[in-house]
Amino acid sequence: MNKKQEIIGSTSSPTVSTSSPNIEYRVSSIKYQVSSIKNPVSSIKNPVSSIENPESSIEHQASSIQHQVSSIQNPVSSIQHTAYSIQHTASSIEHQASSIKYQESSTKNPVSSIQHPASSIQHQVSSIQNPVSSIQHTASSIEHQVSSIEKSPLFGKTLDELKHVVSELGLPGFTAKQIADWLYKKEISSVEEMTNLSKKAREVLCEKYDLGLIKPVKVQESKDGTKKYLFPTLHNKFIETAMIPDKERVTVCVSSQVGCKMGCLFCMTGKQGFNGQLTAGEILNQIRSIDEFTKVTNIVYMGMGEPFDNLDEVLKSTEILTAEWGYGMSPRRITVSTIGIIPGLKRFLKESNCNIAISLHTPFDTEREKLMPVQIAYPIQKVIDEIHSFDFDNQRKLSFEYIVFGGLNDTASHVKEMARLLNGIKSHVNLIRFHPIPGTPLNPTDENRIQEFKDQLNKKGILTTIRASRGKDIYAACGLLSTKGLEEEK
Ligand code: SF4
Repeated sequence: MNKKQEIIGSTSSPTVSTSSPNIEYRVSSIKYQVSSIKNPVSSIKNPVSSIENPESSIEHQASSIQHQVSSIQNPVSSIQHTAYSIQHTASSIEHQASSIKYQESSTKNPVSSIQHPASSIQHQVSSIQNPVSSIQHTASSIEHQVSSIEKSPLFGKTLDELKHVVSELGLPGFTAKQIADWLYKKEISSVEEMTNLSKKAREVLCEKYDLGLIKPVKVQESKDGTKKYLFPTLHNKFIETAMIPDKERVTVCVSSQVGCKMGCLFCMTGKQGFNGQLTAGEILNQIRSIDEFTKVTNIVYMGMGEPFDNLDEVLKSTEILTAEWGYGMSPRRITVSTIGIIPGLKRFLKESNCNIAISLHTPFDTEREKLMPVQIAYPIQKVIDEIHSFDFDNQRKLSFEYIVFGGLNDTASHVKEMARLLNGIKSHVNLIRFHPIPGTPLNPTDENRIQEFKDQLNKKGILTTIRASRGKDIYAACGLLSTKGLEEEK
């Protein structure tokens, strides 16, 4: 029998009544113990010595208390209660012991005590080193602001939609045109600045709507002057926009979708996959919210996404760009590019006067299927048939985009087949240098070959030029736009 069993045995024996003085003694001893625990400062009279050996000193107290507790487990319930309370106190002393041990170790090793602030600084440095996460933070804060105010954006609404807004709010009909003027002909940053609207009208408008402009969160500038803007969308996604200056001409290449569904083999956006549609406002914001807004002369829908896969919003945006009540731009300065989605092409040709560019890339069906899966649903010959059936006026420009891949689509047979396919179509072919992207078996063609290819097509009567490659060093060139990393890290 060990000591503990011996004590338990004696307290649980039938002679317990005769041991009352013994219990009283224990109670008084426990009271003493409790009082010393209640005042740990006085019990640890010499902090230095207790810090020197805190564990054994406190362990000793804890074990003495536990011993006391076991000795009184049974006889009197009030003593049991005291014992539980002492157990509780013992565990709190253990906690103090570990805290003192920590202090002791940090005193002995000042370096380790500095490590904690150092790691916090490391965290700050890593957040500076990782702009992606800091941009995500900004975007989510923007989303938060947008959702917290829960107002609809006015920017991007057509005049008809604005008429609907004012009628719903009980405002005079002419207010719609006034709002359109403020949105598209002036540079304001809030509804409150629409000063020719009555104060009451502005208040009513502000209850449900705000302007809806979104600033870019990142701008990169190429050594050739091209800029790439990164915009958050209203739903915490990201899109890229390229601004390409060329003497007096300033072209903005806008995105129409977040990512793309079409999976073209040569395109970084295609590799990203589809992450959502853009509204007309988000498309136009890419023009309105860049530094060069007032200098923009041309707009091309050749950024992220297939415009005809988001045709309603694209058509609304071109309407706002070209309408007199909108930006009043000539449709000849706007080009919408498509890979050839035939239903979208038919509707666009009827409902818009803007220029159109069709991504061709090879005249051969099987080769095009490999480069562009859309060929399976909408073969290029059917796209060309559709073009033939439409009565183009002399104003609208039609062009074909042709990325030249070395040894693949730059041969004499391609020249011959192009001449057959485009025969009788008044158009222009843009040859584009391929910029290699990871994970594709495609290669750029050499400079001599692209020049020869251009000359051969021109000789066949196909007006052909080579498009200058711009913004390659900041991944703003054709086929390189992508926000894949940003979308994946959410
Ligand atoms: Fe989409 Fe255009 Fe890229 Fe094809 S080339 S994947 S349609 S963005």
